[in-house]
Amino acid sequence: SHLRPQVVKRTKTVCTYCGVGCSYDIWTRDRHILKVEPGPGPANGISTCVKGKFGWDFVNSPDRLRKPLKRVKTSQGETFVEIEWDEALQIVVDNFTRVKDQHGPDALGFIASSKCTNEESYLMQKLARAVIGTNNVDNCSRYCQTPASKGLSRTVGIGGDSGSIADIETAGLVIIVGANTAESHPVLATRIKRSHKWRGQKLIVADLRKNEMAERADIFLKPNPSTDEVWLQAVTKYIIDTGRHDQAFIDRWVNKWPEFQQSLEGYTLEHAEAVTGIPVAVLRQVAEDIIAADGVAICWAMGVTQHCGGSDTSTAICNLLLTTGNFGKPGRGGFPLRGHNNVQGASDMGSMPDTFSGYQKVDDAAIRGKFEAYWGVTLPVSVGLDNRQMIEAIHEGKLKSMYIKGEDTITSDASANDVADAFSKLDFLVMQDIFFSETCRYADLVLPACASIEKDGTFTNTERRIQRLYKILDPVGDSKADWEIIQLIAQKLGGAGGWKYTHPSEIMDEVADLTPTFAGVSYERLEGYNSLQWPVGEDGKDSPVLYTEKFALPDGKATFWPLQYVGPSEEVSETFDLHLNNGRFLEHFQQGNMTFRSKGISEITPQNFVEVSPELADERGLSSGRWVKLESPYGIVRVPVVITTRVTGKQLYMGMISVDDPVNKLTSLHVDRTTHTPAYKECSVRMTLLDELGPN
Ligand code: SF4
Repeated sequence: SHLRPQVVKRTKTVCTYCGVGCSYDIWTRDRHILKVEPGPGPANGISTCVKGKFGWDFVNSPDRLRKPLKRVKTSQGETFVEIEWDEALQIVVDNFTRVKDQHGPDALGFIASSKCTNEESYLMQKLARAVIGTNNVDNCSRYCQTPASKGLSRTVGIGGDSGSIADIETAGLVIIVGANTAESHPVLATRIKRSHKWRGQKLIVADLRKNEMAERADIFLKPNPSTDEVWLQAVTKYIIDTGRHDQAFIDRWVNKWPEFQQSLEGYTLEHAEAVTGIPVAVLRQVAEDIIAADGVAICWAMGVTQHCGGSDTSTAICNLLLTTGNFGKPGRGGFPLRGHNNVQGASDMGSMPDTFSGYQKVDDAAIRGKFEAYWGVTLPVSVGLDNRQMIEAIHEGKLKSMYIKGEDTITSDASANDVADAFSKLDFLVMQDIFFSETCRYADLVLPACASIEKDGTFTNTERRIQRLYKILDPVGDSKADWEIIQLIAQKLGGAGGWKYTHPSEIMDEVADLTPTFAGVSYERLEGYNSLQWPVGEDGKDSPVLYTEKFALPDGKATFWPLQYVGPSEEVSETFDLHLNNGRFLEHFQQGNMTFRSKGISEITPQNFVEVSPELADERGLSSGRWVKLESPYGIVRVPVVITTRVTGKQLYMGMISVDDPVNKLTSLHVDRTTHTPAYKECSVRMTLLDELGPN
């Protein structure tokens, strides 16, 4: 017969969804994804979740951007037309140059993406700093995890998980605070479930909502909204007052012990009960379990960080771990669970307004000098604007142009209407994405990028593990890998000695040259399923557990960080009488830009909904499926109701996914006092019933 031989390829990749960093082989024939076959990968063994296994249809979606798009005016109004790359690049260069000449380099802002590779995040900050001359560069960790990194860097020095996922699995006690682990980090949750069920691991969960891990927990704490810091401090004080803290560890390793003890004055269990609503007896049991455990691992996520006190609560977690000697050894430690596949890497690579790669400070003259010598340019001295400050600067008329890659800022940032209003004032906005997002509607130019399986590079997962992904498919249409697009822009703008990267491995070589914590990282050492957890010495020795020899602060010691609790920025009132929490669903990722375009997944959870307690449903005469209008001082959404005992009383819960009405139309402009992460979880709304038939 004359049948064409079918070429089946099997290629290793790293999951594009969450920060667990599952790696697996994808079997393909042409552009058909035949199956996903787990590794075994270092983070996931032979497991994946529904997203990793079935969430790949989006790469072949007809909605993929295939050509650059330019906004044009027509007699019917404005629209987008397809153009060639040459014209697109010329538009970028003309406008960046014009804005820079008229208003200075700090009138431009750059947003890297935690969906993109390490190499691409590195190039984004290099473009901002070395070519344009501004430190206005940030990434979406500002929306989620920066407060967690702050808590760790304040106390122990490094803003990353202090151990590996394996250490969570082997800890005697796991405490999960403000994280929906079974849905947001499914494979990591499975490892905890196994230990809890078969190896006698204890599990304590603190959350507003009785999520799946809370159902399984030995103790479920349900604090009043925004009060975790208080019970953490009270439990710490109780351990100290009963003389069961680790005095030897503290004497040897931790500074500011007297100041810390003093700062806990007044944080009694009784006071904690009054503030948090958690009974004294339960808090005492939590303390006793911590004392008795052979290794405590505390995992946390956005239920902690997305508050006005997000950095402080993260710090309280670290203080508790230091008090009980739970750093520096396997089977224990502090574990912020990173959301996106490469949110850790985007920050590691210096897409931050205050740091180069490896958290080297931009305002340190010696470090800046090193980068200036290597790049052959003079670099900006002062710290740049973060995501949130960029939005404010647009309103103030100071920031005129932005380049955003792989982020739908309007639906991701808090208070979507305010962000949209800001973007409508921009002089020139370039978006770079795989789909035409809500934010693209405000762009002057949209550049088509590649999905992760269409390019080479590395991702860094929640446990600081750097892993290689390989190009499996060719780009769709005229789309290009993000690193290639950034390089084309840099080349056309000139300066910085010309960029000549022919492969992402050369970018990583440069990172290794300039970044002590990446000194020994190379593509040779990351081949296949090999991986490295930074810091990586020049000899290639990596660091599964941090602080085994010393802490990462100047004198090699950790430090307690005294805190004073400040209440939330926003509480329920007579007008806005319900508390609205938000988070992820198992099947979907963030707004669902990718998962809604994956058939098997969008069929399971086709749309967003709000969870309402049976008590509240009774009071308001609600039934599941009924549509309601939710209203906050910042906006309105319409959404159907699901009645569930996962939430209680006047607390609501809504997914982050957005088909039409994102939850972020309701969230406020309040931010974490230290890092400016929006306080997404401090949100009060009122609810009105709508016509039973639907959203109108
Ligand atoms: Fe992907 Fe996370 Fe699921 Fe693993 S747990 S398959 S990394 S979404």
